[in-house]
Amino acid sequence: MKLLAATAITLSLLASTSAQTDKVGATSAWVQDSQAIRIARRGTQPSRQGPAENFTGSVRIDPLFQANAPARTSGSLVTFEPGARSAWHTHPLGQVLIVTAGTGRAQRWGDPVDEIRQGDVVWIPPGQKHWHGAAPDSSMAHIAISEALDGKAVDWMEKVSEAQYSAPLRAKGASADTGPRPRPSQAAIGDFAPKLAELTDDVLYGDVWERPQLSKRDRSLVTVAALIAMNRPDQLRSHLSRARENGVAQDELIETITHLAFYAGWPSAVSAIAVAKEVFEKK
Ligand code: MN
Repeated sequence: MKLLAATAITLSLLASTSAQTDKVGATSAWVQDSQAIRIARRGTQPSRQGPAENFTGSVRIDPLFQANAPARTSGSLVTFEPGARSAWHTHPLGQVLIVTAGTGRAQRWGDPVDEIRQGDVVWIPPGQKHWHGAAPDSSMAHIAISEALDGKAVDWMEKVSEAQYSAPLRAKGASADTGPRPRPSQAAIGDFAPKLAELTDDVLYGDVWERPQLSKRDRSLVTVAALIAMNRPDQLRSHLSRARENGVAQDELIETITHLAFYAGWPSAVSAIAVAKEVFEKK
């Protein structure tokens, strides 16, 4: 009996030792595997539709690579049909977009809409509210690469409205960091009042409007509100156009004027609506 019990213990010890060896053997085999080059063959990763709560229109997402710990970067190919776009969103650690086909649109909240084309490489800085998608009359595909923070690479927000989507593109040459600054007052009053034109272009538009403490969109809303309250239709006319270029949608401007009827007075709001109608119908 004693012998039998001892044998059983020995056997079970052996069994557990060999189980451990197996486990270690399996682990090292797995480690070896994870060090090998892995090739995901074309067409082996199923594509999916961009979910309706985060996208407008038809969007196909082809996964390219998942985050391989300890790396936190993942990438996918996203194809937007004409008119399709993402909702507004942010990336905690930013995002790179490599446009591989077609023509599209990208916009940071408060900035004008930019056109993006095949071959362009776009950097979206961390935490910046933005959207990207196709142009109204062209499809667009981009490879999107982003890095996750605490397992999350994107925070989704509201949809991009039709009015926001169809806002005018950023004027050519007016990009935030390329080319000479436009001098809007020179043409209008430069000959007649050169100092006033210089102060307007260099101090107001060249310095104050360029300060990063407020977005251009916010500066436009503040300016438009002041001009409506002071009943200045001539200045309001040009600032309504500028506001749309800076990402304020037409329906948002109409709402602003409606709101201001209660603070600036009914006559000011009605005059402003007449100017707005004239400006919006021109475009
Ligand atoms: Mn994005």
